[in-house]
Amino acid sequence: MYQSRHDDLTSLLNRVGLIDQIQQLVNRNDGFGVVLLDIDNFRGINDRFGQEHGDKVLSEFARCLRKLASDQYGASRLGGDEFAVISNIREPENLLVFCNELLEKLAREMASGPLRMQLGASVGAAVFPAHGDSFNSIIRSAHLALYQAKRTRNDVCLYQNNFEAGYLRRVHIEQRLRGAMHEMQLYMAYQPQLDVSGRVVGVEALARWDDEELGYVPPNEFVEVAESSGLMVELGNYVLDRSLADFRNILDEVREPLELSVNISAMQFMQLGFAERVLLALKKHDVHPHYLTLEITETVFMSGFDQVVPVLEQLRHAGISLSMDDFGTGYSSLSLLRKLPIDELKIDKSFVDNIIADEPARNMVESIIAIGKNHRMRLVAEGVEDKDQFATLVEMGCGRFQGYFFSRPVLVEEVGAVVRRCNTTIAT
Ligand code: C2E
Ligand code: MG
Ligand code: MG
Repeated sequence: MYQSRHDDLTSLLNRVGLIDQIQQLVNRNDGFGVVLLDIDNFRGINDRFGQEHGDKVLSEFARCLRKLASDQYGASRLGGDEFAVISNIREPENLLVFCNELLEKLAREMASGPLRMQLGASVGAAVFPAHGDSFNSIIRSAHLALYQAKRTRNDVCLYQNNFEAGYLRRVHIEQRLRGAMHEMQLYMAYQPQLDVSGRVVGVEALARWDDEELGYVPPNEFVEVAESSGLMVELGNYVLDRSLADFRNILDEVREPLELSVNISAMQFMQLGFAERVLLALKKHDVHPHYLTLEITETVFMSGFDQVVPVLEQLRHAGISLSMDDFGTGYSSLSLLRKLPIDELKIDKSFVDNIIADEPARNMVESIIAIGKNHRMRLVAEGVEDKDQFATLVEMGCGRFQGYFFSRPVLVEEVGAVVRRCNTTIAT
C-alpha cells in the first residue's frame, strides 16, 4: 500500500498518492491550492553530470520541498523533475505570495545544502474551486499555469482564464502545422544582407505560413509550437530542403556569388545525423557548402555543450559557416564564446533599435563588435531600419547589414530584382 503511493527515490507521495490526496480534498469541498514545480534545465544537469548526480539533485530538492511545505497538506513528485505541493491556502493572492517565498527559500536551501547548487524552478498554481472544481480540471489549470510560467520564463504563474485560450490556439496551430508541411502552405521569404558598400552578399531564409483557418501565423509562434510538440525536426528538414531548392534557383538567376543563411532550432542539433542530413541536402540541390550559413541561438548549448560542439565542428569542417543569432540577448558568457567554433555574430535588433537614442545599447553594440573582431568573426547587424542606424553601425566597424532600410523579406521570385536594384545603385 505504502509503495504504491510513494516515490522510491524521494519517498514523497507519487502521482497515485497525489490523486488520492486531491480527491479527498475535492470530496470535502473545502478550498485548497495546487502548486506544480518544474526544475529549470534539469535535463542539462542530467546530461552534463550524469544520471546519478541528477538523482541526488532530485532527492535534495525533495528534502527541501518537504521541509518548506511541512505546514501545508504535503509535497509530492509527479515524475521526472516535476513536483507538487498541495497547499491549505485558498485565496489566489496569498497562494502567489506563498509560491514566490517557496521559490526563494528553495533556492537558498539548495545553495547552502550539501550540493551547493544554484537551482531555479518554474511554478504554476491554481486554487480549488475557482480555477477548477474537479480533480481533472484543477490539475489541468495548474498545468496550464506551469506551462505558461515556462513559456514566458516567469518564475511563478497563477492560473488565468485566458491561458485556456492561449493553450487552445497552440493546439490548433499544432494540428494545422502538420498539414501545412504536406500541403506546401509553408514557404520561405528571403531577406537580403548587404555589405558596407550596399551590395547584396547574402539572404536569410525566413519561414512564412498563411493558413486557411488561422490566417498569417508568425514564425516565432509556430516554431515555438513545433518545438514543444515534437514537430521541430520535421519542420526544420522542410525548411532546409525548401530553402536550398529556392536558393539554387536564385543563384541560377542572379549569376553572382551569394550566400544563404538558414535558422536552425536547438532541437535539430539533437537529432542523430544532423550534419549528414545537411550535407545530403546540399548535394541534392547542388549547392556548395561554402554558400551556406546556419544560424543558431544560445539555447543550443542548454542541451549540453559537449554534445553540440562536435556537430558544429563537423559542419564547419565541411565548409559550412555558423552564425550566432540574437547575440547578447541570451545567457552565453564570453568564456563560452571563446570555445565555440562560430564564424559570425548577429547583433540583435533590440540593440540596433536603440543605438541612436540609448547609450547602454550603443555600448553593448560596441562591445559585441569588439568581441567579434577579437575572435575574427563576421558581424551582421539585423533590424536596421534607417540611415542613421546604418551610418552608426558602419562607423563602429560592422561589416554586414540586414533590415527594412534595405529590404523586407521578399518572395523567392523577387530576390533577383532586389539584388539587381541594390547592386546597380552602387555601380552607378
Ligand atoms: P531572426 O532569425 O532573428 O530573424 C529576424 C527577424 O527580424 C525576422 O522576423 C525579420 O523579418 C525581422 N526583421 C528584419 N529586419 C527588420 C527590420 O528592419 N525591422 C523589423 N521590425 N523587423 C525586421 P520573422 O521573419 O518574423 O522571424 C522571427 C524569428 O522566427 C526569427 O528571428 C527566427 O528566430 C524564427 N524563424 C523564422 N524562420 C525560421 C526557420 O525557418 N527556422 C527556425 N528555426 N526559426 C525561424
Ligand atoms: Mg536568424
Ligand atoms: Mg535574430
